[in-house]
Amino acid sequence: MPLFALLFCLLALAGFHAPASAEPGSEKQRLEQYISTMLDGLWRLDPDAALAAGYYRYADRLSVPDAATRDATRAFLRQQLAALAGFDEKALAPAQRLDLIVMRRRFEADLWELDTFRSWQWQPSSYNVAPGFALQLDTGYAPLDTRLRHIAARLAAVPAYYAAAQANIAEPTLEHTVLAIEQNQGGLAVFGEDLVQQLARSGLADDEKQLFRTRLTAARAAIQGYLHFLGELQARLEARGARSFRIGPALYAQKFGHDIQSGYTAEQLHAKAKAEKAKLHDGMEALARTLWPKYRGNAPVPADRLELIGQVIAELGRNHVKPEAFVDTIRRQIPELARFVSEHDLVDQDASRPLVVREMPEYMRGTAGANLQAPGPYDAGANTYYNVTPLTGYASERAESFLREYNHWMLQLLSIHEAIPGHYTQLLHANKSNSLVKVLFGNGAMIEGWAVYGEKMMLDAGYGGGAPEMWLIWMKWNLRAVCNTLLDYEVHTGTMNEAQALALLTTEAFQSQAEAVDKWRRVRLTQVQLTSYFAGYAEITAWRDESKARLGKAFKLKDFNNRLLSYGSVPVRDIRQLMSEAP
Ligand code: ZN
Ligand code: ZN
Repeated sequence: MPLFALLFCLLALAGFHAPASAEPGSEKQRLEQYISTMLDGLWRLDPDAALAAGYYRYADRLSVPDAATRDATRAFLRQQLAALAGFDEKALAPAQRLDLIVMRRRFEADLWELDTFRSWQWQPSSYNVAPGFALQLDTGYAPLDTRLRHIAARLAAVPAYYAAAQANIAEPTLEHTVLAIEQNQGGLAVFGEDLVQQLARSGLADDEKQLFRTRLTAARAAIQGYLHFLGELQARLEARGARSFRIGPALYAQKFGHDIQSGYTAEQLHAKAKAEKAKLHDGMEALARTLWPKYRGNAPVPADRLELIGQVIAELGRNHVKPEAFVDTIRRQIPELARFVSEHDLVDQDASRPLVVREMPEYMRGTAGANLQAPGPYDAGANTYYNVTPLTGYASERAESFLREYNHWMLQLLSIHEAIPGHYTQLLHANKSNSLVKVLFGNGAMIEGWAVYGEKMMLDAGYGGGAPEMWLIWMKWNLRAVCNTLLDYEVHTGTMNEAQALALLTTEAFQSQAEAVDKWRRVRLTQVQLTSYFAGYAEITAWRDESKARLGKAFKLKDFNNRLLSYGSVPVRDIRQLMSEAP
C-alpha cells in the first residue's frame, strides 16, 4: 500500500513540472501512447473482457479471480490514476481532455467496485466461464486449430477459477445465487458434445487432443462442483435468510454517481421522474378521451382514468402487422426514417455506412424482439446490424401478444429508438471521434438518453402526423423509462415490494403482467442501470431547452444535435460543459 501511494506522488509531481515548452502535439502523442499501453495492461488483467472487445492477444489466458488478481488490479488502477494526473490538460484539445476525464472516472469506479461495493463477494453470478469460451468458438478470429489451442490453455485454469469463486463468496443474495445456478447450468452446454466433435475433426496432434480432453473433463467437473456448492448455499439461504438484494441509500448514491455521471443526484432524478409520471398521465387521459368514441363508440367511459387509458391502449394494440411481415416492415421503415430526418433537418446522417437489417442470429434470440449490434471497438469498419427476431417460429398466441405490444405505432418508435435517429445514428457520430476510450468506457446514460430523446424529437417534428394514437403510444413507451427510474430508486433505497412494483408497472405504466414480472426480476439483479434511460433523456432535454432559451432565434436544432453527438458517448454533463465553453 505505501509503495503505491509513493508512486502516485512521484508521477503527480512529474506531471506538474512538465516542460512548458512542450508542443501541444507532443502531449497528444504521449496520451495516445499511454492509452494503448494502458489498454494492453487492462486486457492482460481481464482477458475475457478483451475477447468481448475483440482484442485477441491474451486469448490463451483465463484470469483466476483470487486475491492476487485483485491486488494486481488494484495496483494497476492506482498506477493509472497516478499516470493520468501527470498529463497537462491545458495542452490537450477538448476531445483528448474528455478521454482523460473518462479514464479517470472509470478507474475510480473500478476501485470503488473492488474495495467498497465488492459485488465479487455477494454476487455468485459474477462467476461463469462459459461466455468467453463461447465467444472463442463462435468468432473466427483465428483458424480453428489455433482457437482450440487457446481454449486448451484456458481450460487448464477453470478448476482454479471456481475454487477462487467459492473462496470469495461471503453473504450472497439469494437472487444472485439462483441466477448463478441458472447461468452456469446453461453454460455447461458450451463444454458439451459439439466441442468434443470439433476437437476430433481438428488438426491437433493426438497428444494435444488427449490433453484437451483431460482438461475439458476437469473443467466440467469444476463447473459441476460450483453448481453443487451453490445448490447447498441456496438451501441454506432459503432456510436462514440472506443478504437483501436492496443495496440501500448510501451505496445507491455512490453507484449512481459512478455509473450515470449525471448532473442530477439520484434523489433529484427520482423527483423529476415522479413529476414526469404525473404529467404523462394527464396527457394520456386527454388523448384517451379524444380517442374513446373512435374506438369504443357509445360505450360508457370508465370513471377511473387509468382504466380509461388502459382500455384505449388495448384497442390500439389490435392494429399490428402479421407475424410473417414483421421483419420486412422494419426493413421498409429504415429509409423512411432516414428521409424524415433529412427532410426535417434534425441531425446529420452518413449514407456511406448503411445499416444492415437482418434476422436475429439464433444464439441471440429469446430476450429481445430487436436490437442494434454495433461493431466491436477494434473492428469499427464492420457492419452495424439491426437484428430482428422473425416471429414465424412463435406459437400464435405468443406472436399475437408480442405484436399487440409492438403494434403499428410502437413498431415505429422501436426503429426510431434502435436505428434512426436513435442508437445507430448516435453510433455513426461517436465513431468519428476515433477514440477507443470513449467507445470502450462509453456512458450508458448518454447512449440510452439520446435514443429516448430521439423519439420525442421525431414526434415534435411532426413524425406520425400528430395522430393522437401515435402520441398516446409514445407516452406509454416513455412512461416505461420514467417508471424504470422510479422502480430502481424505490426498490434499492426504500422498501418497495413485489406487489407494489407489479402494481406500478401494470396499473400505472400499462405493462403486461409478463413484462412487469421480468422487470421485477431485473431490478433485483441490477442496480442503477435502469435509471440510465430517463437520466440521459432528462439531461439532454434540459440542456436543449436552455440552449434554445439562450440563443433565441439563432438556435438551430440540427446544429445543437450535431454538436452534442460530436463528443461521443460521454456523460451529458461533460458535453454541456464543453459546449458552453466553446463559442
Ligand atoms: Zn391481432
Ligand atoms: Zn436503447
